[in-house]
Amino acid sequence: MKHPQFIGHDIYRHSTYGRWHPLRVPRVSTVMDLVRALGWLEDSQFIRSPRAKPEALTHWHTPRYIAALQRIEKAQAATPADFENHDIGSVTNPVFPEIFRRPATAAGGSILAGEVLKDGGTVYSPAGGTHHGMPDRANGFCYLNDPVLAMLSLRHHGVRRIAFVDIDAHHPDGVEVGFAGDPDCLMMSIHEERLWPRTGPLENDGGGNAFNLPVPRGFNDTEMAFVREAFLVPRLQSFQPDAIVFLCGADGLEEDPLSHMQLSNNAHWDVLRAIRGLAPRLLVLGGGGYNPWSVGRMWAGIWGILNDHALPAGLLPTPAEAVLRALRFEGNRRGRNPPEHWFTTLQDKPRPGILRDEVAQRVDQLNKRPVI
Ligand SMILES: [Zn+2]
Repeated sequence: MKHPQFIGHDIYRHSTYGRWHPLRVPRVSTVMDLVRALGWLEDSQFIRSPRAKPEALTHWHTPRYIAALQRIEKAQAATPADFENHDIGSVTNPVFPEIFRRPATAAGGSILAGEVLKDGGTVYSPAGGTHHGMPDRANGFCYLNDPVLAMLSLRHHGVRRIAFVDIDAHHPDGVEVGFAGDPDCLMMSIHEERLWPRTGPLENDGGGNAFNLPVPRGFNDTEMAFVREAFLVPRLQSFQPDAIVFLCGADGLEEDPLSHMQLSNNAHWDVLRAIRGLAPRLLVLGGGGYNPWSVGRMWAGIWGILNDHALPAGLLPTPAEAVLRALRFEGNRRGRNPPEHWFTTLQDKPRPGILRDEVAQRVDQLNKRPVI
């Protein structure tokens, strides 16, 4: 089989949503630098992400919204109507220098991934995963919805049955809007309950094909292992997908400033290990993750696993450590005195805990629903 392909771009290196926005920290460039420093990225595996053409974006987004994004980037200003119609210019979805180019590059990578995966294989695009984007408006830091565009691209290239697996701390409301009721698309999400956008309760089946598992604060590695084995893996096995789109947001990690989950990066990696063989095509996307160290370390490990590299168990080689030491996290207490292991290791210590009844019961509820 072809080697896994990494879709990246340098546009993410210096782009920021603004000084106080959670997306002020570098993420994709950290992953690119780390995996190169570890000797894990062959030139033949790297694809420089194309920028999606406006027309390609209108396969899901409205033409007027795409035109507005382009105009706003040019003017570097949003009008009251843009705020009203598209929620642009809000604190969450600010105007920033690459407001069209950056999301269009992530979307271009996801659309290309659908083509690359036509005959099978593995693609990793950590810039992808903007799962809140809506057809006509920005939502939750997401201006476009690249996972939906990736799935439409897979369909366009003849891939029918798609499983979307999302372990970001937030519910993928935009993706659910895109594929609700589609009998050839299985959507599974594990997200923190009562966290923004507060959609995706257990009872919401999105027209039959969405399986939403809200989990309580403090969700730990033991609980994720249970959810993985009792819910994710069997459901995927019975669905028999032609492709899996795995959204591996890093905001469920304990160090993340935006959620209250307590996972170690082992939890995310073990989900990947368990599901990667369950379909002939695998697209791994990034998503949330707002602590620059925990995002970089976890997402680099994802690439290592996809390539069957042994993850460094002890201290990182000096060039990799240098990448992590160069990161800054201003305006957050976690950036003041980062613990040494954020610089010197890739793998967290496991964070086991008690499997709470509510988690087991909710999985039970989901498992009572019929196979699709
Ligand atoms: Zn998130």
